Amino acid sequence: MSRSVLITGGNRGIGRAIARVLAEAGDKVAVTYRSGEPPADLLALGVLAVRCDITDPEQVEQAFQEVEAAHGAVEVLVANAGITKDQLLMRMTEDDFTSVVDTNLTGAFRVVKRANRGMLRARKGRVVLISSAAGLAGQAGQANYAASKAALVGFARSLARELGSRNITFNVVAPGLTETAMSAELTEGQRAAVVEHIPLGRLARPEEIAAVVAFIASEAAGYITGAVIPVDGGVGMGH
Ligand code: NDP
Repeated sequence: MSRSVLITGGNRGIGRAIARVLAEAGDKVAVTYRSGEPPADLLALGVLAVRCDITDPEQVEQAFQEVEAAHGAVEVLVANAGITKDQLLMRMTEDDFTSVVDTNLTGAFRVVKRANRGMLRARKGRVVLISSAAGLAGQAGQANYAASKAALVGFARSLARELGSRNITFNVVAPGLTETAMSAELTEGQRAAVVEHIPLGRLARPEEIAAVVAFIASEAAGYITGAVIPVDGGVGMGH
């Protein structure tokens, strides 16, 4: 069955890998992108790319209208777009904190709330929120980012309770460090220090996160809601 899927920040990194796997599985996939041009490989797969900055409610509304016109109401939403502005607390500005929360947490709220309209009407839906291992364990220098990612857990679990009877599931996927532009900002030393604590001894590949998202968004995962699924090479081990 071909579903209407929307992935925020689907033009690169983890979001792009999620878009690929779902488009290849036959879903009608739309991605939002904020800058640059949408990648040719996704366009070749028939993916619809809509420009949207998720910190702007009007752009979110416009993006949903474009997706609904082309693919119908969104049935699967992956809130993936996110940013980091790493800094030690003493040097972290108010803007470093609020801009990260506005994108990672309030941005997720904006798209989830808008998608929920159609899901309520359809009496079904799948929402997947991309959090981070840093949100579960904490990470020095990432208090803003970790707080925004941890908050997604409470957000998803509250909605899982609120909307479970409407057959809408809310789950959180928490990747460990993954090979994307975001992790490329690390120095070799920082990277080695991280890898030392990963039982599988390497970073994740975006496709490995995408495979888990594809499952949790599938019909087969219909009885999973309010779950937090780490894809972190064994770093968390239940913590
Ligand atoms: P990238 O930096 O490669 O991509 C981030 C995506 O989010 C881009 O598409 C970017 O758009 C988009 N984005 C950022 N801000 C906004 C905004 N205001 N409005 C719309 N889109 C926006 O990151 P990753 O692929 O690595 O990360 C994807 C998700 O996974 C993020 O939520 C991240 O926190 C999470 N994650 C990543 C990990 C990693 O190690 N890479 C580990 C754990 C979690 P644009 O191209 O226009 O900037």
